[in-house]
Amino acid sequence: MAEKKVRVRFAPSPTGALHIGGVRTALYNYLFARQHGGDLVFRIEDTDSNRFVPGAEEYILESFNWLGIKFDEGVSFGGNYGPYRQSERRDIYKKYVKVLLDSGKAYLAFDTPEELEAKRKEVPNFQYDASTRMAMRNSLTLPEEEVSKLIADGKQYVVRFKIEPNEDVHVNDIIRGDVVINSSILDDKVLYKSADELPTYHLANIVDDHLMEISHVIRGEEWLPSAPLHVLLYRAFGWEDTMPQFAHLPLLLKPEGNGKLSKRDGDRLGFPVFPLEWHDPKTGEVSSGYRESGYLPEAVINFLALLGWNPGNDQEIMSLDELVKLFNLSHCSKAGAKFDYKKGIWFNHEYILRKSDEEIAGLFKPVLEAHGIAVQDYSDAYLTKVVSLVKSRVNFVKELWEQARFFFVAPDTYAEKDVKKRWSADTPRIMGELMDVLRGIEDFTSKPSEDIVIGWITEKGYHMGNVMNAFRLAVVGECKGPHMFDITELLGKEETLARIEKAIQTL
Ligand code: GLU
Repeated sequence: MAEKKVRVRFAPSPTGALHIGGVRTALYNYLFARQHGGDLVFRIEDTDSNRFVPGAEEYILESFNWLGIKFDEGVSFGGNYGPYRQSERRDIYKKYVKVLLDSGKAYLAFDTPEELEAKRKEVPNFQYDASTRMAMRNSLTLPEEEVSKLIADGKQYVVRFKIEPNEDVHVNDIIRGDVVINSSILDDKVLYKSADELPTYHLANIVDDHLMEISHVIRGEEWLPSAPLHVLLYRAFGWEDTMPQFAHLPLLLKPEGNGKLSKRDGDRLGFPVFPLEWHDPKTGEVSSGYRESGYLPEAVINFLALLGWNPGNDQEIMSLDELVKLFNLSHCSKAGAKFDYKKGIWFNHEYILRKSDEEIAGLFKPVLEAHGIAVQDYSDAYLTKVVSLVKSRVNFVKELWEQARFFFVAPDTYAEKDVKKRWSADTPRIMGELMDVLRGIEDFTSKPSEDIVIGWITEKGYHMGNVMNAFRLAVVGECKGPHMFDITELLGKEETLARIEKAIQTL
């Protein structure tokens, strides 16, 4: 038998911001599709109109655009299997509901919510299934004429899947192996509601996976309980030969303690659980996003890729292309993956180091502008050099400001404890001498200046640490920062002298 072409899908419901776990699911689908030369489909599962949130679809698309995860077809991408939005496929689902009804694999149920509620009160652990369905109001128990009359009268009904009891259902999961459950624990799931003429998630999901020729269903662990039902649905339609292979990804767990990662963990510990900032249209609540918090998309991808999978050695830094080569779906772990957000910060630091200084300088510009710096007054070469001197000290681009402020504004205050330690009665005189020495330097670049100044300190027998720290205090405003003569080279002679002069006047 010829191998089926790999076609996978990411199928979010537009019910709000995309959770970071959903991003990981999409990423794994993407990696799997790319490495098999397959297709990645973007499908919108919006059959639950009550939970629809405006803007969610656009948000999800923008998130992947930012992250560089590309889809081959689907909503907003086009393709030959559309429409890709489930709310636009009503007629297709109706047809397949009828197939199940005609073959006796499903039936109509007229029980009202009140009747169902009464049953639940009467029968402990009531479940609509083989043991109870014959005591309910449905097309299996009511005479045919009555069923026709109820429909003609416009009474609302649902279509339920008739699950045969006492059968072991096997889900062959790429990650979890053979998962077996007995069909008796399943209820006769609602597949369709006449009230909104829409199918439920289960029916729409498997009809679409079938029609869109999906080869592998890669999704979060929370969907594992639905998988046996899906297997039975495939069988009811006679589609078991083309049934996709399942892979249920491990849960994302809290950074500390037990249980699954929640938005509250993020709020409590200060990390985003959404790719982009999200403005909830109902509550007005604003939730932080990885993008707005200053994460680089490459860092987020790399971090997420390792939550539930690893390359089998200790390699941690991997580009998207490398991940495509190395990723192995069957090597994903079954056990939940701790969401170590600090590792995410570490990845961001590593990617800042790996990116060119030019690129980081470009990202630094808006930060400078936000701090009132007229960026156009500085050459790209200057900004790039500044970045090269301080970028090893930051985890986020926005933190460059704190490290590099003095390259753009002269200090107007001086760190008190440094002043106490390094600025004594004699210092102004020595700084005055230093100014003369600096004035005399022709090549003001780092190394030559350093040689001359160090030579002068040595010759005079001054205390190296005291002089150099006073010098630094005058130029930077505190006793820290990159190599002193790299700083003065960039600031230039005039600015350096002006700053020392100002410190002598002020301190
Ligand atoms: N619409 C489901 C979700 O929001 C899709 C689940 C699946 O991939 O089958 O995650």
